[in-house]
Amino acid sequence: MRLILFGPPGAGKGTQASQISQKYGIIHISTGDILRTAVKEGTPLGNLAKSYMDKGELVPDEVVIGIIKERIRKEDTRNGFMLDGFPRTIPQAEALDNMLGSEGLKIDAVISIEVEDEEVIKRISGRRVCEKCGVMYHIIYDPPKNNELCDRCGARLFQRDDDKEEVVRRRLQVYRNQTEPLKEYYKKIGILQSIDGTGTVEQVFGRIDRVLQSLIEKKDDFFKEQGRD
Ligand code: ADP
Ligand code: AMP
Repeated sequence: MRLILFGPPGAGKGTQASQISQKYGIIHISTGDILRTAVKEGTPLGNLAKSYMDKGELVPDEVVIGIIKERIRKEDTRNGFMLDGFPRTIPQAEALDNMLGSEGLKIDAVISIEVEDEEVIKRISGRRVCEKCGVMYHIIYDPPKNNELCDRCGARLFQRDDDKEEVVRRRLQVYRNQTEPLKEYYKKIGILQSIDGTGTVEQVFGRIDRVLQSLIEKKDDFFKEQGRD
């Protein structure tokens, strides 16, 4: 299955991706994670990306398109993948369609996690990440047991530089102006699935799970009709 997890920063894409991959074993590809690793390693890509990320701006299309092209060419994506944080602009979506189309493939569904700005700001401002193993917490909704230390490995938790309030506001503006129009793009193709992103992680996952189950049933029916079950 090939999925896109869509929604504003802080909607819960990464959180839900980890639930989906636990249940369905689908590979999770986050452009934000790939870029943050490059920043940490101080590679030329990382240095370039940092100048945009720190301001809450998008990294140029050709850079992220190149990253995704390289990533989805890898063997582990043969049976599917879910994209988190990509595409974020119309040219990125078109490039993705072309990449997949040239192999006779397509995106099965775009799951749009709908959350209002006020809730997104609460979620982002409380987000903390383990500096060593990358596990994510929320200081109110999902706090670590031991103050500011990771439950899994004991390392310190930190707040992402771009999760500071002034940058978050810019990221939200960028989302509403440049990324949200993609919903119309996918609605026209008939693969947009909007789900309510409010409530607990489990409640949101329940809604996504129902969408995934119905996609799987549709695929099964299709293959049965083709006599290939
Ligand atoms: P995104 O990947 O869309 O930027 P995250 O998955 O990183 O969002 O979630 C942002 C923050 O909100 C994290 O601290 C996470 O623990 C918290 N969070 C995610 N889903 C929920 C939810 N349903 N209710 C409350 N907090 C949530
Ligand atoms: P995220 O982790 O998805 O919130 O992304 C963090 C930051 O990485 C964004 O604010 C952008 O600066 C950059 N980024 C991630 N994915 C993309 C993308 N598809 N296009 C452009 N910039 C991106």
